[in-house]
Amino acid sequence: MPHRSTVPGVWRRYPQRYRLVGSKCETCGTYYFPPRDVCPKCRTKTKMVEYEFSGKGTVESFTVVHTPPDNMEKQAPYVLAIIKLEEGPMLTAQVIDVDPKDVRIGMPVKPVFRKISEDGESGLISYGYKFTLDEKS
Ligand SMILES: [Zn+2]
Repeated sequence: MPHRSTVPGVWRRYPQRYRLVGSKCETCGTYYFPPRDVCPKCRTKTKMVEYEFSGKGTVESFTVVHTPPDNMEKQAPYVLAIIKLEEGPMLTAQVIDVDPKDVRIGMPVKPVFRKISEDGESGLISYGYKFTLDEKS
């Protein structure tokens, strides 16, 4: 049945936009996001495997953006943070649904998949990952 394979195909085409897929070196146990083909630590090429992060992590550092690019002005001010994932890799992402005054270094966060920007002229909307407070931690 052709339609049964449609959904996985779409997800595979945009893996990093809807899932936090990186790689893990099975030789030294280091995780990478975005994924790498070669481990910079031990130079392993053959034991790099795909790894999907839970996305749980903490705020390592952050900045409050008051003057965003034009297509994000509706969202200003917003918080742009460096998130350290539980497994170790760091990535930059927006922190949403939290007052910028309440964001703290070390705050536990989890990913949410939301609209990233909207092009007012064309109505084009980009989706991707953002992070929000993980209240269960
Ligand atoms: Zn390695």
